[in-house]
Amino acid sequence: MKLCRKCFITSLEKKIAKTISKYSMLQENDRIAIGLSGGKDSMVLFHVLNKIEARFPHSDIFTITIDEGIKGYRDESLEIVKGVVKQHDIEHYHYSFKDLCGHTLDELVQITTEKQLQILPCTICGVMRRRALNFVAREHGASKLAIGHNLDDEAQTVLMNVLRADLERLYRLDPIPSLKHPDLVPRIKPLREIPEKETSLYLYYQNLPFHSVECPYTPQALRRQIQTILNDLEAKNPNIKFSLLRFFDKLHPILQEHPPITKTFKSCSRCGEVTNTSICKYCVLIDQLLNKK
Ligand code: SF4
Repeated sequence: MKLCRKCFITSLEKKIAKTISKYSMLQENDRIAIGLSGGKDSMVLFHVLNKIEARFPHSDIFTITIDEGIKGYRDESLEIVKGVVKQHDIEHYHYSFKDLCGHTLDELVQITTEKQLQILPCTICGVMRRRALNFVAREHGASKLAIGHNLDDEAQTVLMNVLRADLERLYRLDPIPSLKHPDLVPRIKPLREIPEKETSLYLYYQNLPFHSVECPYTPQALRRQIQTILNDLEAKNPNIKFSLLRFFDKLHPILQEHPPITKTFKSCSRCGEVTNTSICKYCVLIDQLLNKK
């Protein structure tokens, strides 16, 4: 479609609202925690959910920023986040990896180098961020946790899990979690059908600030290689990312009938947080990195 600036903005907001409604991601009285890093996707999520939520008097929104502790990367985005939440008068919580385990991500990566552990920075970051977001969202009474994964992220994750033959993670990619636990705030992804290019354009057209610096650990990530492959494929096959998402959407009901994991969550025997193994991934990681239980 060829759209003018105004129609493009309206069309993107409508697409997000349609995704929310299609998967019943939100209810009228939800208290929604938004993971707000200051990057383009989370900023779009914040602005659009803020507009949508204003139409529902019994719902409310707050934001969470997780500071991984990556030198020279997170500081600027934190300033952008503080500015935007102040401008919209939105409750905001800031939590860091240092609060969580006493170390920044940079320090943990340094430990992996010293101990010659084959653990990528993004693996540590992913495990810790998921835990931190759920913890803060739960502590502040959220009934939903919205994160800014866009179509590109979802397509990359589908392909990555296929290449790793990881059916369990593929299964858990569902747009609204089918696995539930009282301590787990359900995560929703209202941008799952929005291409990354469109999130940038939405902010650019409205002159909205966002943090555009790339994390220094990105080049080490498998996701980066998958991103390059998909972008190359997309140049000649414009629907390739949507097709991957549709493939997953068609596969998911089959996986639900034959789940590749036990359909229950339990509490970690060490820390009590939600997990589907006896010891959660966070505790295993902390054991490996810090030798402490
Ligand atoms: Fe974390 Fe990796 Fe993303 Fe950097 S690129 S913020 S290390 S997940």
